[in-house]
Amino acid sequence: MYHKPIAPAFFNSETKAPFEQCADCGKSLLEDDCHYFVEKAVKNYVEYKTQEIIFEYAICEPCMSQAFNVLSEESKQSLMEYLYAQNPPARVVNPEEDDASYLIENCMVKGTSIGQDVEYQIQGEFIGDRMVVGRMPVAVGFQAINEMSEVLSEKTKDDLEDFINKIRPVPPELEDLFPRRTPVLF
Ligand SMILES: [Zn+2]
Repeated sequence: MYHKPIAPAFFNSETKAPFEQCADCGKSLLEDDCHYFVEKAVKNYVEYKTQEIIFEYAICEPCMSQAFNVLSEESKQSLMEYLYAQNPPARVVNPEEDDASYLIENCMVKGTSIGQDVEYQIQGEFIGDRMVVGRMPVAVGFQAINEMSEVLSEKTKDDLEDFINKIRPVPPELEDLFPRRTPVLF
């Protein structure tokens, strides 16, 4: 694992700078070597070269573990079996490369280009103002998002939706505008 500068893809899309607070507990992320994760779901309008954020958040490691614990054992098992059966493309980390964006150019499951995809999710791991490059960052394309979401139990999907609603409350009048989408990258 290597520590590298935070790739801009993981910046807060509103401030265009690294996330500063855990979306769940409000803890300061950029200080004291805080260990945290950033996850984003992006709708990609390839034709118009624009993007829309479906959700994005930074979450500290303790809050992330807590959220992960609510997933049913059955869903975790199904997800592992799904990934195991996929034979994903090899992942080559270049320790010389400071900009780790190359690691999120393709879907980690299918190997397809996420720049050409209608929707994708990315996840990264961070320590303070540095990105941890190794197992993460990763990207997942639309097809894999759907397939992963299919293997999750209804209860897990409900729990994940509750989690997203808790950290990113959507005003009820706008709810229909947001695609119903839950994280698949835990
Ligand atoms: Zn937290």
